Amino acid sequence: MSTKPYDRDRSKTKRLEMPVQESALRIMNFDEVALGYTTEMAVKEAGRCLQCKEPQCVTGCPVGVLIPQFIKALGEGDMTRAVGIMKSRNNLPAICGRVCPQEIQCEARCVLGKKAEPVAIGRLERFVGDFELLSRTHPLEQKKDTGMKVAVVGSGPAGLTCAVDLAKEGHMVVIFESLHTAGGVLVYGIPEFRLPKAIVNSEINYAVESLGIAIRTDHVIGRTYTLDELLSEHDSVFLGTGAGLPSFMDIPGINLNGVMSANEFLARVNLMKGYLFPDYDTPVKTGKKVAVVGAGNVAMDAARSCLRLQKGRSGRDSGNKVHIIYRRSRDEVPARREELLHAEEEGIIFDFLTNPVGILGDSGSNVTGLRCIRMKLGEPDNSGRRKPVPLKGSEFDIAADTVIMALGTSPNPLVFFDSKGLNRNLNGTVMADHETGRTTKTRVWAGGDIVTGAATVISAMGAGKRAAADIHKFLTLDNRWD
Ligand code: FAD
Ligand code: SF4
Ligand code: SF4
Repeated sequence: MSTKPYDRDRSKTKRLEMPVQESALRIMNFDEVALGYTTEMAVKEAGRCLQCKEPQCVTGCPVGVLIPQFIKALGEGDMTRAVGIMKSRNNLPAICGRVCPQEIQCEARCVLGKKAEPVAIGRLERFVGDFELLSRTHPLEQKKDTGMKVAVVGSGPAGLTCAVDLAKEGHMVVIFESLHTAGGVLVYGIPEFRLPKAIVNSEINYAVESLGIAIRTDHVIGRTYTLDELLSEHDSVFLGTGAGLPSFMDIPGINLNGVMSANEFLARVNLMKGYLFPDYDTPVKTGKKVAVVGAGNVAMDAARSCLRLQKGRSGRDSGNKVHIIYRRSRDEVPARREELLHAEEEGIIFDFLTNPVGILGDSGSNVTGLRCIRMKLGEPDNSGRRKPVPLKGSEFDIAADTVIMALGTSPNPLVFFDSKGLNRNLNGTVMADHETGRTTKTRVWAGGDIVTGAATVISAMGAGKRAAADIHKFLTLDNRWD
């Protein structure tokens, strides 16, 4: 690989930490935990980049952000250029800079990571994104009206990206969203303290106003209209309905009062404005002793939201507890490292190598506890991770009045009802070509979690972008494929 020779001093320096809200304070509120770089810090961190000629960091980014180029512009103080370079590949940098799993994507491939710490690419991206939110240096440009109509189903990152790219090409785009508000998981799943809703809303409103995209909320495709009805009124349809159907464990007590999915809990906190306490007296039950099962980002978000509601309502030393129950060890935790560290700092209790075998209840069918068994790690399984094996006779009980399941999700089948020709895999995901998003049904494309199963914001955006390019090609062809 031809890179500039290492500048020993620069490569040895540590990346600049980002200021955060102190843990004792932040558990009492839903304000953002990470506070972002100052201009001085961003320029200093940008100076650590070696400006590699063959930058490996770019190969780790699902949408190929031109990383050294935007960092160079930022380091030179040319923010307008930095935004332009960023936006040529990524329309939502303020969002991706906050929630992208950078540590396993772009930053994992940064050459500086071999000897010291990688450049803080995500933090720099966030800085550029936040600058653009305030200054809007790059208006979204739209080509002249093509007369073509596209329906986008779902307003998460996949649907939004697809809609914006198609509207820029001059097609008329209508987004159909089942909930009363647009944004998908960015709004109803990821909590305010990680991704402020004002940022997501600002991006959506800007796109809608600049490009004339119509958003029809409260429209459940599969109920309000069928897919075939949409096809009769539009030239093509993009499905970006995500994977919102939660999985539950098949164990005794799973139907007791007080057991819920993390998606349901987070949707109540986010959509019913539970995060705005004490101004909203929202009926989100948190309980005093909560057990969250699972250790992905969703589990961390549920546990940390729960803690904030408990502490915010009852005070710091309320005696309330939130446990995370995980059947593997700390090393295998699938959540972002930053989320794990933040959860630990905030006082979430981790029960590693522990698996629930039953949920305990009282005579009124209310949860009273979780029966668990200790686990040990055996040989690697199909996923390459060491398989957890139960230790016979090691059962024990954890007191709990609320159990939140965060065990993964699959696509909700509603949208597929009454639609012939749209093939799905056994796990419920839609069959679609990875490069183009084309499904097995003519004039229907799909992308994001509905195709991959639960994945990431940036992979959903990448899929929305690829599908938009293919739909545009289809719409502008003289002889269409059908
Ligand atoms: P979604 O964001 O799920 O959007 C789908 C939209 O379609 C929703 O608005 C839904 O209401 C709508 N819809 C569904 N069915 C219908 C229908 N029949 N008719 C009309 N509309 C419909 N990823 C990261 O990269 N980093 C993170 O830190 C991270 N944290 C996460 C935390 C939580 C709590 C969750 C749940 C997920 C997290 N993810 C994270 C994953 C990421 O959010 C998803 O991979 C991404 O949002 C998928 O985008 P999407 O557009 O495919 O679907
Ligand atoms: Fe890294 Fe995500 Fe930005 Fe790509 S979009 S450069 S993976 S933070
Ligand atoms: Fe090289 Fe890392 Fe800079 Fe990318 S971010 S150009 S890999 S030093």
